[in-house]
Amino acid sequence: MARPFDISKVRNIGIMAHIDAGKTTVSERVLFYSGRSHKIGEVHDGAAIMDWMVQEQERGITITSAATSTEWNGHQITLIDTPGHVDFTVEVERSLRVLDGAIALFCAVGGVQPQSEKVWHQSEKYSVPKLAFINKMDRIGADFFGVVEQIQNELGANAVPVVVPIGKEENFRGIIDLVKMKAVFYDDESLGQKFHEEDIPADKKEKAQKWRANLVEKCAEQDDELLEKFLEEGDLTEDEIWTVLRKATIDRRVVPVYCGSAFKNKGVQRLLDGVIHCLPSPSETPPIICEKGGGARTPSDDESLAALAFKIVADKHMGKLTYVRVYSGKLDAGQAVFNSTSGKNQRVGRLLRMHANRQENLDVAHSGDIVAIVGLSDTKTGDTICCKDNPITLEAIEFPAPVISISITPDSKADNEKLSEALHRLADEDPTFTVGFDPETNETIISGMGELHLEIIVDRLRREFNVSAQVGRPEVAYRETITVAAGGSYKHVKQSGGRGQYGHVVLNLRPTNPGEGFEFINKVVGGRIPSEFIPSVEKGVVRAMQAGPYAGYPVVDIKVELNDGSYHDVDSSDFAFQEAGRAGFREIFMKGNPELLEPVMSVEAVTPEEFMGPVSSSICQRRGRIESMGTQGGNKVVSGMVPLSEMFGYSNALRTLTQGRASFSMHFEHYETVPYSIAEEIVKKRRAQDKVR
Ligand code: GDP
Repeated sequence: MARPFDISKVRNIGIMAHIDAGKTTVSERVLFYSGRSHKIGEVHDGAAIMDWMVQEQERGITITSAATSTEWNGHQITLIDTPGHVDFTVEVERSLRVLDGAIALFCAVGGVQPQSEKVWHQSEKYSVPKLAFINKMDRIGADFFGVVEQIQNELGANAVPVVVPIGKEENFRGIIDLVKMKAVFYDDESLGQKFHEEDIPADKKEKAQKWRANLVEKCAEQDDELLEKFLEEGDLTEDEIWTVLRKATIDRRVVPVYCGSAFKNKGVQRLLDGVIHCLPSPSETPPIICEKGGGARTPSDDESLAALAFKIVADKHMGKLTYVRVYSGKLDAGQAVFNSTSGKNQRVGRLLRMHANRQENLDVAHSGDIVAIVGLSDTKTGDTICCKDNPITLEAIEFPAPVISISITPDSKADNEKLSEALHRLADEDPTFTVGFDPETNETIISGMGELHLEIIVDRLRREFNVSAQVGRPEVAYRETITVAAGGSYKHVKQSGGRGQYGHVVLNLRPTNPGEGFEFINKVVGGRIPSEFIPSVEKGVVRAMQAGPYAGYPVVDIKVELNDGSYHDVDSSDFAFQEAGRAGFREIFMKGNPELLEPVMSVEAVTPEEFMGPVSSSICQRRGRIESMGTQGGNKVVSGMVPLSEMFGYSNALRTLTQGRASFSMHFEHYETVPYSIAEEIVKKRRAQDKVR
């Protein structure tokens, strides 16, 4: 079947913004003007289109990463939802992974806020080309040129306005299009759907010419031939500007800047034009990286299928919906596919393109498309879908391990099963959320990336699954490792009537660099341990690592070498060598100067200047390090690193300290060594609780 849109006319984009910059409002206007949603749902009346889930609307934050398709000027635009809240940084990363370009949204008053800075840097990591949209030009204090300067100075971007505002605050009336050199005014009656172009008003001419000159100069700088022409003739044509702007944006040498007021229905259509003009189609992005086999894949329908599952949503009516991006080849409804990550065969049931107000059943999805699949029962976020006869694994999305845990019990015992089922469905959707069980306390333990993350899960349990539950105190997910290499020999020997047990191993344990994980190396030669028992030793080691000998926490970042050993013809068995591996590991681990590791959070507090002192010391008192202090709007921003264990109850503390006038956000950064004296206290407590055995 022919493609409905040539691949050059496809745009997969995200809108990235600090919370409250107006992402929901801009997304809705985009869908409204592109004709797919027929009424504007204001955020405050809760009819938002992108925000599916009730508590998102209540909290006004967007957590899911739904993809909504629409059409603009003969192009297919798919909007991939990126969350604005830094607690969901993983959600941001995963959406950045599948989009080709982004609109960075700024508030004309707030400008570059700490969280928008964070998201900006994340997008640079994934080499995402960007446009900027400076929203809320109608608000008191709006400062278009000030924000452009901030984007240049604070984000280091070559920000080039392609439009400038006409008026500001309550007098914000429209924009000047610097490429066409026309004024654009929007009609309030039709909610901005109608607009007209006219000559630039006399009193705005000088300003327009100045910024037009800036635009043309910036374009000319990008291309030697154009520079020559510009020097000779002093100007460039519309076509020349767009061609060079497109290339420079895709190469991330320029960020074109737009402005408007989504709420007052001004400026959004020009932004959509900008998306078409300047952001890349899937065929203009670098070939997708493959982890193993198959080399690179290019976005062509003639290639073999490669698709990445990037989001799973439990839908009330359709069951499990898997959002995929097709990188190469085609995907048919009903087709048998292969999940190369899990090694399982899967069948595509229905294939859907999601629009703002309807779902479109597709017979086929083409390369470059982002669609939802019903029927992939055994596929998780980050898995690759491909053809069995030409398998390939795409680079997986990296998800950090959860850093905080709480116990959870249903209010009514009868709900036990319902709770467990709901938790597992939620864990399917969210790779940074895990469900476990503590056999000692008989409790279900849920783990995630922060208190807010787990709070939202508990909230969803109640709303979506009708299970009310109580949670325990949050606990930090510590890890343990060794600091020096240690070696030794361990014999597991038991002689108790009948057949005995015999396994003997010589192990060497070495610390690895943080984040390198676990490696098992077999160095046994000459059959001194029969090869069939080598995996048994590894299994024993892995079991020992699940609850380490130091404080009962998981062991990380260690290299285990099996150097030697011996066996007995009759008494050696899988079990005996597992035991030798397990107990040997535990004994030798303790000789390696073990230490505890704790999650450290990057914390940003925004406060009025008068509370700067108390806020800074509140971070230092929590074993924190201040990394930077800055200014944002009229406020001060204090950024630092603080161990998660010290951050419990910080919202209340900050409220008390600053009469409720400061706010903060945090997200997991990395693991660090727990200072010895504190580690010893934790170990003592764990031993007293019988958590170390
Ligand atoms: P999000 O958190 O980034 O999704 O932001 P929302 O779209 O929910 O907007 C946050 C608040 O700003 C809401 O009250 C909106 O009505 C308001 N808002 C959005 N765009 C504009 C705008 O252009 N001008 C003004 N004055 N308010 C806006």
